Amino acid sequence: MKILVCGGAGYIGSHMVRYLGGRGHEVIVLDNLSTGHREAVDERQLEVADLLVPSSLKAVFSRHSFDGVIHFCARSLVGESVSQPYAYYENNVAGTLNLLQAMREAGVSKLVFSSTAAVFGHPETTLIAEDHPTRPINPYGASKLMVERILADAASAYGLRSTALRYFNAAGAHPEGRIGESHQPETHLIPNVLRAALGQEAGLKVFGLDYPTRDGTCVRDYVHVNDLASAHLLALQHMESYEGAHLFNLGNGQGFTVLEVIEAARHVTGRSISYAQGNRRPGDPAVLVASSDKAQRVLGWRPRFTDIGEIIETAWRWHQAPRY
Ligand code: UDP
Repeated sequence: MKILVCGGAGYIGSHMVRYLGGRGHEVIVLDNLSTGHREAVDERQLEVADLLVPSSLKAVFSRHSFDGVIHFCARSLVGESVSQPYAYYENNVAGTLNLLQAMREAGVSKLVFSSTAAVFGHPETTLIAEDHPTRPINPYGASKLMVERILADAASAYGLRSTALRYFNAAGAHPEGRIGESHQPETHLIPNVLRAALGQEAGLKVFGLDYPTRDGTCVRDYVHVNDLASAHLLALQHMESYEGAHLFNLGNGQGFTVLEVIEAARHVTGRSISYAQGNRRPGDPAVLVASSDKAQRVLGWRPRFTDIGEIIETAWRWHQAPRY
């Protein structure tokens, strides 16, 4: 297949590009390089374009003929979405609409969309399935849920085939260590913990030790980026036979507390990692764990990295020698 990966210079997108390339697919990356890294992409595959500039999108679709699109371009920081909601709705909703229109004009009818566990808000159950109520509590989650709705409408009106994949906590890096997670600023737990192990982050904080969990810290479901990539390809292949708008939750089905992640990182790195007690971070639910039964049953998805230590080990390889 020839596949357009929007946001292919970013963290999850760059792992997707690698994964597809390794399986013989032809890939073009569309990225505005606002948060993505030029170094993460083969220059020959890169089309610098912006979803908010429809003419730049059209130009990409006129130069290539795609079998499908995988769409990772988004702003994705919960806290920032609360203080800058317009930026989130503009990028994540209006930008996606522009992409959908460009796809329609070009006759491209399959899309895999990055959604998020943030569409669920404060969950009512500990294991979250696809039919769990969606009540996002921040503009980031709301913007992704709006797109899910647009995709359902586009399936009925235009016959668009789409799959929204709701990731829980994407983590880890390519085991070879050539690409990895590099955000500016870095807000995610595992990179912050590993930077603390390297002595690069003196102020590691655990946000809240008074949650109703086994050790008082939040429980999250960490899923390896390469496992996310494999689910995207399976979703594209699934849409060859099935029309409509599909939804899947993607996680390991296992939750780890913040303190368990720190302990696992101490074990992997062999270094001491100290932290301070911080306040709860607004908008953090106590427990977020996915039921991925549907993805396993319908797509045949099998996450390979089920051990938190193994996930952290791949991230550690990258953090010791990041290339960007
Ligand atoms: N967290 C923390 N310290 C940090 C970063 C994150 O205690 O420096 C906590 C955060 O409150 C949450 C969990 O670690 O409970 C995972 O946070 P992350 O930002 O990695 O992902 P999110 O769950 O927000 O998608």
